[in-house]
Amino acid sequence: MRLLIRKHNMRECLKHPVFEIIAGVIAEDGLQAYVIGGYVRDLLIGRPSRDIDIVVLGNGIDLARKVAARIDRKLPVSVFRNFGTAMFRYGADDIEFVGARRESYSRNSRKPVVEDGTLEDDQQRRDFTINALAISLNRETYGELIDPFDGLKDMEQLMIRTPLNPDITFSDDPLRMMRAIRFATQLGYSIADDTFDAITRNRERIRIISRERISEELHKIILSPRPSIGFLLLDKSGLLELVFPELAALGGVEKRGKYAHKDNFLHSIRVLDNICPYTDHLWLRWAALVHDIGKPATKRFQAGEGWTFHGHEFAGSKMIPELFRAMKLPMNESMKYVQKLVLLHLRPIVLAEDEVTDSAVRRLLFEAGDDIDDLMLLCDADITSKNVDKVARYRQNFELVRRKLQEIEEKDAIRNFQPPVSGDEIIETFGISPGREIGIIKNAIKDAILDGIIPNEYEAARGFMIRKAGELGLKPV
Ligand code: ATP
Ligand code: MG
Repeated sequence: MRLLIRKHNMRECLKHPVFEIIAGVIAEDGLQAYVIGGYVRDLLIGRPSRDIDIVVLGNGIDLARKVAARIDRKLPVSVFRNFGTAMFRYGADDIEFVGARRESYSRNSRKPVVEDGTLEDDQQRRDFTINALAISLNRETYGELIDPFDGLKDMEQLMIRTPLNPDITFSDDPLRMMRAIRFATQLGYSIADDTFDAITRNRERIRIISRERISEELHKIILSPRPSIGFLLLDKSGLLELVFPELAALGGVEKRGKYAHKDNFLHSIRVLDNICPYTDHLWLRWAALVHDIGKPATKRFQAGEGWTFHGHEFAGSKMIPELFRAMKLPMNESMKYVQKLVLLHLRPIVLAEDEVTDSAVRRLLFEAGDDIDDLMLLCDADITSKNVDKVARYRQNFELVRRKLQEIEEKDAIRNFQPPVSGDEIIETFGISPGREIGIIKNAIKDAILDGIIPNEYEAARGFMIRKAGELGLKPV
């Protein structure tokens, strides 16, 4: 994202009504306060931002209370005493206040020792020059940009750089390594060479960061317009191996004679990029990233055939719960959804390769249910062959599959299949007790519907049930 504004006085840009109110309060109390960090960065590139951070030379909690009271006597203020911060909500925005501080870190933790400090101390503790910009809210200098580390120049050059020695910045708080790569991905910026080299050198330090925080950054990379930027940087710095070994294991190409397979890491991040214009759904994007995660475990070389990955969709879907557990991702429907898409990701393409029969389409619809459209998107994104003819042929067959899916859905309503005849009805009709016959009959009805032998309707299913039960020697009572 390019710099939208290049001014040293930002008075006109401070449109939010809270700024004038803060300016009034600090003028009365003889305090100094500044807007700082991400909000200033986003203001300069014209990116909307909901969090406004205010730093004050003095007590942040007191100032928050005063400003809130001026807006509305009853406006609730949340106070975080341990951090010396306080915040309130103003309209849709969170306004957070903190006293300017100086931080010093110990080796084993990303929790610093904190003391009161100057504005410059506070800017120095920030992770990147683009995140260290401040705007004055003081009467005489209102709107002035305070930029001791040339953050504006870095924004112009689309550059992520630490304000201080990067080895110290990253060693102090290794989460910043993930943040650097995340900002590069979100904004389409480069990481300055010395900053990037320091990430590579300090990569092992990432081990002191919790999995939850790392996954938060991965989500933000995955939700960016072109996530591959981030994954390539993670790979190049050696962080990928540490934060996502299963994905790193997909990298590399093995050759035997004339046979080579594709680099499945590069393929995976390309599939993820491919799907981005079509969806902002986090878990669909995750599914695109991990759809081939089972390939290393199923890789074989077969004489005369070359490299194969038979069953990688089964192996991959089996890996998902453990992967989610290790990465502290939610073990709920989102996990099951990713697992299902990984399991089914080859099905539409196999179908398109073969003759597209109604019964195969019905079965796919039955298994995918409401996730069929997502599955089709994933499968489409997965077509990355260099062979143009092959791609064209797939795309054509895909259109056919899509049309058939729609036709059959309209006709048969398979998507959320409910058996038209219940187990209870079978029991009553034949006067039998619960047992294996019930399952056999129910399954036969389901198969008959999916194979198009009977329509998905009650009367037809009941007739079929009576015939099928007859074969088992059962008669209606
Ligand atoms: P986003 O809101 O998109 O995550 P942000 O830069 O606003 O990006 P926040 O976590 O909201 O990030 O933090 C606000 C500001 O606090 C940052 O701009 C930066 O100045 C500072 N900051 C946040 N995390 C760190 C960190 N780990 N190390 C140093 N400074 C940080
Ligand atoms: Mg923020």
